[in-house]
Amino acid sequence: MYDLLLKSAKLVSGEICDIAIHNSKILEINKNINRDNFKEIIELKGNKYVSAGWIDLHTHSYTGLELYSDNPDEIGLKSGVTTVVDTGTAGALNIEDFYNLSGQYKTNVYAFLNISKTGIVQQNELSDLNNIDLELIKSSIEKYPDFIIGLKARMSKSVVGDNGILPLKLALKAKAENNHIPLMVHIGTKPPEIEEILSLLGKNDILTHCYHGKENGLFDKEGAPKKELLSALDRGLHLDVGHGKESFSFRVAEQGKKAQIKPHSISTDIYFRNRINGPVFNMATTLSKFLYLGYSLAELIPLVTINPAKAINLAKKGRLEKDMDADITIFTITDEEVELIDSLGTVIKGDKKVIPLAVVLKGEYIDLEEVRL
Ligand code: ZN
Ligand code: ZN
Repeated sequence: MYDLLLKSAKLVSGEICDIAIHNSKILEINKNINRDNFKEIIELKGNKYVSAGWIDLHTHSYTGLELYSDNPDEIGLKSGVTTVVDTGTAGALNIEDFYNLSGQYKTNVYAFLNISKTGIVQQNELSDLNNIDLELIKSSIEKYPDFIIGLKARMSKSVVGDNGILPLKLALKAKAENNHIPLMVHIGTKPPEIEEILSLLGKNDILTHCYHGKENGLFDKEGAPKKELLSALDRGLHLDVGHGKESFSFRVAEQGKKAQIKPHSISTDIYFRNRINGPVFNMATTLSKFLYLGYSLAELIPLVTINPAKAINLAKKGRLEKDMDADITIFTITDEEVELIDSLGTVIKGDKKVIPLAVVLKGEYIDLEEVRL
């Protein structure tokens, strides 16, 4: 007997297939798989889409530090997200605690290690260069190679204090010393200048908050992409949304779309405050915002599945294919008016709403109606 059969799954392409799952892996995707050999069968009738499990590349899911944190299952499986990546809440001094906590959740949890050994205990973790200890970074990555999937450097004025671009140079040194592990760089208010940041980034670098609405962003006043951005993209820079309380502007996202500067991944930068009070709420709401911006579903789903998986080298995730991990998101899109708000307080009315219904996580079918009760 095999574990689970999803009957009549509607793929994002519109094609209808059955998906067989066994031992937490996808066994087969095919038309009309015989029902006889399965312990559990789920009938997916109606307008229910099935995709690889959503991956949120920018979250704060280390509950050991209070400033930015949330419960991985709250922002993860209950929101249709099967993998949450914490981006730099923990540094070398607290990564062990985070690693130990992460095992108690059903949602897959991974970490970008903050280059500051303190993590985000306070807002200004890179204002003291003594916090960047390259030896400690190396030993942490060696100790948790399957948990730490990258490094994080927050490069904006409130974080770096008087240190300007220096923390980024040290982050790149740490990256080079550790097999070119991916580096996620947060951008915001200067200094450092965005042009200087971009000139240092390329392959295996992920820039988050790509559509923030502050000054020092990726576009000039007329909405044209800065030339340093175009060069960095040519070198392989990955653009990530990282919505957050302060870092997503409809105006800038529209400029991006018009200039064909689209994100490689859509992430939320979620933690308990911006989940409960907005403007983030959850991944599905973030996806609804991109439907409003005119992205198609077929364009959006790779930005929360295969693209983030590739960016952090999760070879068994992000694709709905035989032998991949059986992490799956089942969702629907309703035609209804929906009020959406960005980080600047701009409210728009969309006409489509993304609603997660269920997930398959490590092979287990979980109905979200039931976990929300
Ligand atoms: Zn940030
Ligand atoms: Zn963040």
